[in-house]
Amino acid sequence: MENEKKYCIMIADDDKANLDILSSILMNEYDLRIVRNGKAVLEQVADSPPDLLLLGVMIPGLTGFEVLANLKQVESTHHIPVIFITSLDGEGYEEKGLRLGAVDYITKPFNQGIVLARIRSQIQIVRYIREIERLGMIDALTDIPNRRNFDIRIREEWRREGRTGSSLSMMMVDIDFFKHYNDTYGHPQGDILLRSLASLFTVHLKRPSDFVARLGGEEFAILLSGIDKEGAALMAEKIRAATEEMTVPVTDQNKNTSVTISIGVATLIPDKDTPVEELVEKADKNLYAAKAAGRNRVVAG
Ligand code: GH3
Ligand code: MG
Ligand code: MG
Repeated sequence: MENEKKYCIMIADDDKANLDILSSILMNEYDLRIVRNGKAVLEQVADSPPDLLLLGVMIPGLTGFEVLANLKQVESTHHIPVIFITSLDGEGYEEKGLRLGAVDYITKPFNQGIVLARIRSQIQIVRYIREIERLGMIDALTDIPNRRNFDIRIREEWRREGRTGSSLSMMMVDIDFFKHYNDTYGHPQGDILLRSLASLFTVHLKRPSDFVARLGGEEFAILLSGIDKEGAALMAEKIRAATEEMTVPVTDQNKNTSVTISIGVATLIPDKDTPVEELVEKADKNLYAAKAAGRNRVVAG
């Protein structure tokens, strides 16, 4: 069991005795948030969704059923697992709660050990889902974000810079003559080189807002925010030079190898009439120009 309180459980109830019992069972393991009426649940959940919601049925304001129906209608909250904890017994209510999409329905008076076990098993499911989501966003070969991750991130950044009015830069990076490298040293050695490059990029991009992804094959994309056109071009040049300097030993051979990269850089200030694809296309076009001009170079603008 994790000793840091990694998961947050929101308890929505107005019955003090009930809140006291649940708090005492759960407080050692989980980060708890207490809410006392239906409207407050919806407001707080929208701001920061908990990992699990324990919901009373007869809470003031909206009923628990109404709260759940509301959560299910909203994209950002429909995935939150909800357990009803209630003294409203009877098949009709339990069936209604489960049909609305609750993951469990616990009736009072309850056995504390059983409640804790049922909550732990829901949190275990949350943990599995997070892990599956994480794996789906990470490139298996290089362990850095993959294309899907990039597609989500670039849209988020585009919206964010759109709000602040600052620019977003993207680098499209492609290894030069990588087919030849594979043909010469073998595909497994090519994989080692791809991993080394991913590490090199990661080491060079230290700010929390910098983002590196492998788009596929021997192509990488880098996002930089809070930096102007010249700064982005300078960063690209730094990465290009560091790649040229990097040597990668060939396994079982007393030999070092190296590659060069070409980089297309694009910088735009987002506005609502410009689709994010324009940034990608511009970086792509500049990459193509860098290749055409002889490779191992940066084309920005
Ligand atoms: P250019 O300078 O024009 O970019 O030439 P290039 O040889 O790098 O480009 P091309 O698109 O012709 O070949 C890309 C090569 O990348 C083909 C393939 O051998 C290699 N490649 C793609 N994905 C992987 C991978 O996952 N592992 C390894 N080892 N090689 C890969
Ligand atoms: Mg390529
Ligand atoms: Mg290439």
